Amino acid sequence: SRPVVAIVGRPNVGKSTIFNRIIGDRLAIVEDKPGITRDRIYGTAEWNGIPFSVIDTGGIEIDGEDAILKSIRMQAELAIEEADVIVFMCEAKSGLTNADEEVAQILFRSGKPVVVAVNKVDNLSRMDEIYEFYSLGFGDPIAMSGSHGTGVGDLLDAVTVLL
Ligand code: GDP
Ligand code: MG
Repeated sequence: SRPVVAIVGRPNVGKSTIFNRIIGDRLAIVEDKPGITRDRIYGTAEWNGIPFSVIDTGGIEIDGEDAILKSIRMQAELAIEEADVIVFMCEAKSGLTNADEEVAQILFRSGKPVVVAVNKVDNLSRMDEIYEFYSLGFGDPIAMSGSHGTGVGDLLDAVTVLL
């Protein structure tokens, strides 16, 4: 079956926006598995002739810092279980946060291949915004803008070489 790419990251970084740009209108129908909360949306896509599935995590929004951290942690763990490659989405406007660092630790321990995407780089003259994300230790961060649609091809190039 198709390899799986999961998009994880804290709320509001633009995961769903990028997910929609990747899948276009190819939303997959998913059967509910009994006893499992389906906090994820699946789609399908193809890039460079490689078909794959995409998971958008983080459908449930919970208020309160502790609850958010708990749900991000849970989503990261689910993504690790299901994904062949993980897109770790951050964003340039708020920069690198403690929650990002926490997710990074979970992903790092998993040993799964991770591509860091830095969304909301809406102005390409501000590419310097991505440099701090090198410190996460997952290699070259990919600059993108879900609003403008830039960087999606770069992200998919980086992801598909790992599939
Ligand atoms: P999610 O919670 O990670 O799934 O994030 P969403 O995709 O729902 O996006 C959260 C907010 O950020 C929405 O208001 C989006 O319109 C906005 N957003 C998404 N991508 C970008 C971007 O590239 N630049 C800017 N400025 N805003 C964005
Ligand atoms: Mg979302």
